Amino acid sequence: MGIFDIFKRKEKSTRFECSTCGQVHDELPALGFLSPLYYDTLNEKDKKEIAELSSDFCEIKNEDQTDRFIRTTLTIKINDACEDLDYGIWVSLSEKSFNEYQSEFKNNVEGKTYFGMISNEIPDYEESTLGIHVNVNTRSGGVRPEIIPHQNEHKLISDWENGITIKEAEKRIERMTNSLTEIKPEKLNKDQTRIEFKKFVGDEKYNHFILTLYEAFPLREKLFFWQEELLQNFSNEFDIEPILFENVHEIFNYCPIHDFELKKDNVKIADGNDIIPKISYEREKELFPMANINAPRDLERFNYPKDVDVVYCEKCRELKNKNVAQHRI
Ligand SMILES: [Zn+2]
Ligand SMILES: [Zn+2]
Repeated sequence: MGIFDIFKRKEKSTRFECSTCGQVHDELPALGFLSPLYYDTLNEKDKKEIAELSSDFCEIKNEDQTDRFIRTTLTIKINDACEDLDYGIWVSLSEKSFNEYQSEFKNNVEGKTYFGMISNEIPDYEESTLGIHVNVNTRSGGVRPEIIPHQNEHKLISDWENGITIKEAEKRIERMTNSLTEIKPEKLNKDQTRIEFKKFVGDEKYNHFILTLYEAFPLREKLFFWQEELLQNFSNEFDIEPILFENVHEIFNYCPIHDFELKKDNVKIADGNDIIPKISYEREKELFPMANINAPRDLERFNYPKDVDVVYCEKCRELKNKNVAQHRI
């Protein structure tokens, strides 16, 4: 997966009076790749020694050939909104085209067309977007060249021809924001996020946060408002990208009591009556809350499977089993 930036097309304000509908609304961000995929896959040494990268140009000098790329814009129409979705995409050009584009770059010559191939993997498509043939049309006004894909069976081409919905566009923006958080390890990795979050909210709230996260079987499909709020305050404080729900279970994957990494299991769903508590629920919550030997039936659900995927803490299980055994004697 490439490295993206997500930027607002206008720098000052993201709210503007729309010339299409006349209302003031938010501008959609553009989804941009910072470099061609072929650059991303180089090791750090090669990035320094054989490659050159700027905001609009990239050259990679391999032993047998030099690859040249420029940054362009791919615009996908959004049918039910005033705006379009813009991708900032790298395209490989021939040496001749690259040199010509580069020499005319400052003067911003418009109306030139070059042949090129897409050099990024757009994650919104199952089928690879690498190597899709395009025309690159230069534009004036300091705007990056626009790409016009050649006819092809690829879904990207039909999206380009027919447009997409605003819902789809928002999904794509969210997905890219998502991958942004994944590729920012220099700030806080998964473990650091968990550890700092624990310090930030304090032990008691942290325990409550984790246990609530895992208390429903199957897991809930969203967070409670107070959980979202804690995460939000945390990411604001640490100035990191918002922590998205789809990453929460992966980040908070440790028993809050024993700090053991949680493991996966599939267990039977049990009715409340079948679970005879040996010690009080409160005590159990303190000592081994994540044993999850079986899963209590969620009475609010009409439909439930026989068994369910759970996560558990080995230490919690060990303690719970001991406790059950002791009471049997
Ligand atoms: Zn509008
Ligand atoms: Zn535990």
